[in-house]
Amino acid sequence: MTRMLVNAASLVVCPPDTPGVLGEIPDAAMVWDAGIIRWVGRRRDLPSSYRELPAEAVVDAEQSLVIPGLVDCHTHLAFAGWREDEFAQRCRGADYLEIARAGGGILRTVEDTRRAGVDELVLRVLGFLQQMVRLGITTVECKSGYGLDLANELKLLEVYRRAGRRTAVRLVRTLLAAHVVPPEFRTRRSEYLELICGEIIPQAAEQRLASFCDVFVDEGAFTVEEARRVLVTGLRHGLRAKLHADQLSNTGAAQLAAELHAVSADHLEHSGAEARQAMARAGVVAVALPIASLYLRQRPLVARDWIDMGVPLAVATDFNPGSAPSFDLRLAMMLACTLCGMTPAEALQGATIHAARAIGMAEEVGSLEVGKRADFVLLDVPNVNHYLYHLGSDVVRATYVGGRSVYQRSSA
Ligand SMILES: [Zn+2]
Repeated sequence: MTRMLVNAASLVVCPPDTPGVLGEIPDAAMVWDAGIIRWVGRRRDLPSSYRELPAEAVVDAEQSLVIPGLVDCHTHLAFAGWREDEFAQRCRGADYLEIARAGGGILRTVEDTRRAGVDELVLRVLGFLQQMVRLGITTVECKSGYGLDLANELKLLEVYRRAGRRTAVRLVRTLLAAHVVPPEFRTRRSEYLELICGEIIPQAAEQRLASFCDVFVDEGAFTVEEARRVLVTGLRHGLRAKLHADQLSNTGAAQLAAELHAVSADHLEHSGAEARQAMARAGVVAVALPIASLYLRQRPLVARDWIDMGVPLAVATDFNPGSAPSFDLRLAMMLACTLCGMTPAEALQGATIHAARAIGMAEEVGSLEVGKRADFVLLDVPNVNHYLYHLGSDVVRATYVGGRSVYQRSSA
């Protein structure tokens, strides 16, 4: 059925081209059919063929601001347990690596997650997604990485596959077996790399459980050389490369992302100018994760360095139980402004069109253009600046995925 949105105070297109240019259309209308946008523009320019649609086919935006469905292009969504005690320790001054060395950190979540069953994890993921939809999030990249052995890494990807069948949210799966070296391989890390390259990647690819392969490169995780080996193996099996790069120190991982034409390099707080240049040339999307910088009280990425270099800069939550225990993408966008120096318009592009690029979905989602999926959000705010300026209120009136309502605020 052909359907139409009318009475939007303004519709924010988020075209891919120019940093900070959102292509806002005042008094807009949008038409879709079979979940795909067919027409978008000023209501007064609506083609006559759409003027006679029956009332039940028309969605009244009631003067809200319409933005594309938000894309969270970096999450660690499936995990068991939380780590709020470590949060309290860090507030007292303990550092991330110190906690990890004492048996906390990622490995603690690995222990909890290995013990959890598929059904339990699916329900938890669905619970998170339900709350994310209320924030206007319609596409989510989700990583494994708390299994760290063949059975448990595949289990986590299977959790996402099953959850994906039970939610309207679009899920994109990434294998992150190279998150950290699991305890049983601590003294034989090369054997763990052997397991990743010889078994986990081939099986994840063969079972079509993942689209991307990611590696956490940093002190306490993997080296650039190890990452090259894992990502090249992933590429051979059809998994596109992503990287956790230069979060805690400048390791050269961003350069590796450029060398391998990774779809994205994420974190990048400590990358240098050469890496930025190389990523710009290679067309790698940079992903800012300011919630992690805030929680770890570490140096945030300097957005202007990347934008001026011509690198598309996405914004994501990095949702995980340690360094970023929030899936609030609006908060991430606000922090991208206040900590990283993006404008609100750039931050919104970062969580829509650039985030879509960071997961290879820019042809489908991330902007409200003809031919793309009708994923959109109705907001009770006067403009984009206000959306990221006055935090704390419940501004999402409704969320649509593929032209279908997946959330309506009860008071709306
Ligand atoms: Zn991450």
